[in-house]
Amino acid sequence: MAKQQADAILHKIYRILKGENFVLRFKRGLSCYGMLIEDWEQMIIDPFSGEFIETCIHECLHMVYPEADETLIIKLEKYLIKHLTDRQVANFLKRIAKLIGGD
Ligand SMILES: [Zn+2]
Repeated sequence: MAKQQADAILHKIYRILKGENFVLRFKRGLSCYGMLIEDWEQMIIDPFSGEFIETCIHECLHMVYPEADETLIIKLEKYLIKHLTDRQVANFLKRIAKLIGGD
């Protein structure tokens, strides 16, 4: 059951990441681990935050559930981290990698 729920959330994330203009950029020294800017079409992540995957998932969840407050997003993030299979994490990272843009 948990796997299917994690899968369902992941597919919502994938639907958003498929947006034509969506870009992920790396930036060191952010005041936080990651953020969404420019009408949420850009995700900026500090690649050295030490919580790279968690941060990517977290910011994606904000896009999937724009009404959700930070507490719920963190709850969902922890749920996903706990229940995603290794294969799901690998696939997530592959999709994220495709979105990485330069300056
Ligand atoms: Zn947040």
